[in-house]
Amino acid sequence: MSAIDPDSPVQFVKGIGPRRAQALATLEIHTVADLLGHFPFRYERDAGQVDIADLQPDLNVTIRGQVRRMGGRPPTLTCTVDDGTGTCVLRWFQRQTAPRGLHAGVGVIAQGTVREYRDQPELVQPRVRLCNVDDLPARVGTEAGLVGVYPATADLPSHLIRRAILGLLEATELPLVDVLPPELRRKHELPTRAAAVRTMHRPASEAALGPARRRLAYEELLLLELGMALRRYRQHDTSPAQRLEVTPEIDARIRARFPFDLTADQRTAARSIAHDLERGTPMTRLLQGDVGTGKTVVALYACLAAIAHRRQAAIMAPTEILARQHLTRVEQYLSGSRVRHALLRGGMAAGERQQMLADIAAGRIDLVIGTHALIQHDVTFRDLGLVVIDEQHKFGVAQRQQFRTKGPQPHYLVMTATPIPRTLAMTIFGDLDVSVLRCAPPGRGTITTRIVPAGQRTRVLRKIAARLAAGEQAYVVCPQIGRDDADEDVDTDPVATVRRVHQELSETLWPELDIGMLHGCMTPDEKDATIVAFARGHLHAVVATTVVEVGVDVPGATIMIVENADRYGLSQLHQLRGRVGRGTRDSTCLLIAGAGSPKARERLGILEQTIDGFAIAEADLRLRGPGELLGTRQHGLPELLVADLTTDFKLLQQARDDAFELIARDPRLEQDAHRALRAALPATLAQKVPLIETG
Ligand code: ADP
Ligand code: MG
Repeated sequence: MSAIDPDSPVQFVKGIGPRRAQALATLEIHTVADLLGHFPFRYERDAGQVDIADLQPDLNVTIRGQVRRMGGRPPTLTCTVDDGTGTCVLRWFQRQTAPRGLHAGVGVIAQGTVREYRDQPELVQPRVRLCNVDDLPARVGTEAGLVGVYPATADLPSHLIRRAILGLLEATELPLVDVLPPELRRKHELPTRAAAVRTMHRPASEAALGPARRRLAYEELLLLELGMALRRYRQHDTSPAQRLEVTPEIDARIRARFPFDLTADQRTAARSIAHDLERGTPMTRLLQGDVGTGKTVVALYACLAAIAHRRQAAIMAPTEILARQHLTRVEQYLSGSRVRHALLRGGMAAGERQQMLADIAAGRIDLVIGTHALIQHDVTFRDLGLVVIDEQHKFGVAQRQQFRTKGPQPHYLVMTATPIPRTLAMTIFGDLDVSVLRCAPPGRGTITTRIVPAGQRTRVLRKIAARLAAGEQAYVVCPQIGRDDADEDVDTDPVATVRRVHQELSETLWPELDIGMLHGCMTPDEKDATIVAFARGHLHAVVATTVVEVGVDVPGATIMIVENADRYGLSQLHQLRGRVGRGTRDSTCLLIAGAGSPKARERLGILEQTIDGFAIAEADLRLRGPGELLGTRQHGLPELLVADLTTDFKLLQQARDDAFELIARDPRLEQDAHRALRAALPATLAQKVPLIETG
């Protein structure tokens, strides 16, 4: 076995065969290369061959000896082995799972984990090999060391996978191309790929695992970031965009539109945007900022810069509520200006819509606000200079760049109110420049967050009534809408529903107050009416689903109550909390939570301690992992086998720097040292950066 083809089917690997190949296929392992890349998820220490007299509980051992007698009451089967130093029992709970041919006098080699039972060492369900007692070897040949435990299936246990992989490793040369340029390998003092793979499967020591893992994780991250660097390179250096110079006059004129000074963070973001717009390549910038930090103002700054150059601008929001809110804000800032704006809605009458589309196509509208109705086929812009996409993560990256325009590429500004930990931002939005608004505008009240145990809920809610009667306003958020027919079983169903809580509040807890409802089963007009009533102070409270999460802005609301708070992620709770504290008054956020585990309690406790969205996102990432935090599918989060976005931050940063530098020097990866990388890329890009084609 000297040359193995990495692409050959696993079926032909020694110890696999067609049946086991099928089991491996369920683990997405199809080829030799896949198998070699199937790494243990943990390691057990194996003591190797041990004399029976020396057995200790919990050791993984191999013993050898002669069967003295068989026993056990069916269905149990036991077998007592003697190796001259003592006796040990082998035990099977189901006879039929014991190997055939076990009987007194036969030689046996058994491997398993030691336990003590009635002062006697035992191996339960051991793996055994039988032989003639005269052929019993003195040394069995299993060495002490770390044994990898593999992700396995019911049909194909870890040890069989391990045996097949170790068989492959016997080959003198592993069929593994080292894609890392030697220069980078030296720079970071990384082992070769083959050495790293060997170590992962058969580590000589705990210490050897570190560098091996690091090497494989680095490679994974480098390929990922190369994809980002390539995408960015294509966007920036191969497609021209309008140069829109933000002169001091334009800058001053835009700023004069706002009834306040920009915050320092807003100024920095605006400067970066101005710089991007002047460059002649499309801006692709991500504006991150907690709710209420003033992203809309920055977005409008960018739009007005484009409009100053007689280009059109578009703002796309994820929901109609938010689109309308942008419109309201825009109308407030633009009152008396010559900027022509319009709201393109989903449910417009055909004639009205046709007219608006004609106006957009003819350039008679400067600023178009809408939902994804904006990227429908029949929407064409005469001269679209800039696109703002609000709440980017709600769209998925794919919807970027589907704007139909008659001119060159527009500039893009995407915004998110979900603070994204840097590791995630670098992998999901790794091709974007990032601006961050960290500080809220001055003059805001504080937000106090408190966890309310479910047992105190009624008492606390009754107390809130006085504050509401005195003019404060509250959101009450429930995880579910609930059924219309009101025959829910209140006592057995622990999840609060909008309908039930609305009824409870209006009838028993807050009977004097006016309370509205807001949820996804209402028509846009109904929702609208409720929001307007709430915003004007006609309602003391609204009971809502998480539709209030994204961006609904009612500065008078100062109380946020979240039912079943333990059902939400930290980031989502933080978003909800951001609906209050938007005015000058101090606000309260009450998280109602059942008697959850101490861990759940600790998790919610983070919200009591901080209102820094980035700190909360980092904690959420640590506690729940990246997939949960963002929803893997939707966000094109790469599937990483070795690297871990919650811990490999420094490695990711290194890989990113290296990748961008590499593409700057050799944008087509044509140099000899980069050939292997390029060959590794298409698959990686197709798999992990699925949007390369839209770039
Ligand atoms: P975001 O979109 O980030 O949640 P908005 O842009 O909606 O935040 O701004 C939130 C509120 O703060 C709005 O009422 C807005 O008028 C106000 N605001 C924004 N920037 C400033 C500023 N620099 N100074 C004072 N108020 C501001
Ligand atoms: Mg906003």
